[in-house]
Amino acid sequence: MKKGGTILRFIMPELPEVETIRRELKTKIINQKIKDCIILRRDVIAYPGPKKFYRSIVNEEIIDVIRRAKYLILELTNNKRLIFHLRLSGTISLKNYDAEPERFTRVIVKLQAYQLFFNEPRALGRIYLVKNGENPKILKGFFNLGYEPISPEFDFNYLRKKIKGRKARIKSLLLDQHICAGIGNIYSDEALFQSGVRPLRRAHRLTIEETFKLLLSLKDVLNKAIDNFGTSVSDYKRTDGKNGSFQDFLYVYSKEGEPCRVCGTKIVVRKIGSRSTRYCPKCQK
Ligand SMILES: [Zn+2]
Repeated sequence: MKKGGTILRFIMPELPEVETIRRELKTKIINQKIKDCIILRRDVIAYPGPKKFYRSIVNEEIIDVIRRAKYLILELTNNKRLIFHLRLSGTISLKNYDAEPERFTRVIVKLQAYQLFFNEPRALGRIYLVKNGENPKILKGFFNLGYEPISPEFDFNYLRKKIKGRKARIKSLLLDQHICAGIGNIYSDEALFQSGVRPLRRAHRLTIEETFKLLLSLKDVLNKAIDNFGTSVSDYKRTDGKNGSFQDFLYVYSKEGEPCRVCGTKIVVRKIGSRSTRYCPKCQK
């Protein structure tokens, strides 16, 4: 996509970016009542229909802000959950009550003291409203997620079991949300670099030692990225419009053609399935 001579790149916010948004929102919007909701683009409301959606959220209060994989969830009174899926280029910004919508604002949730803007240039991001116990087909991906890599239950035995006997490339399995909930292209590339494993390797060929290293690298990379408020290499912004800072710590993602920070060899890029993956041909075996 060309705009002003620059190629715009869209990347999907991953676990650390959504976790950053969650933490920032939580301190501000807990106990706020939803006073109104303005739907500027109807197809962004994926479930239920826009009218029912509106009726279901207005006058409810936000009692918690949680995250599951790449989904941001506002827990509302009366056992309702407002689920945001940012997809490729969605952002959430929290604005004062009198702020005007931004260019790509699709939905505005008006709270007592703030407005929550859901912005999405491509309009691919989606919002859902479900009651506890309800599990609509359209949210199938949400209800079939694997463990979170930063959680204690995502341990060596879990990862080993998930990749055992699998002939797929390890990179593809890391992107599989049934295995690593919340992981995307950035953090799979970075974790593979840190563990010294080449993304093209067949998963079942990883040794016990490599699997263990990969497990630790996944946790380490994700936790560091959360500490640095995520990676801003394209659309991702924090809720106050500022950038995250983990892009300063990347070794391979978006570094193709540049010298490896460890050994000086040029970082290469290869397609695996439809996704590009970057790695150092010397550091990663
Ligand atoms: Zn290297």
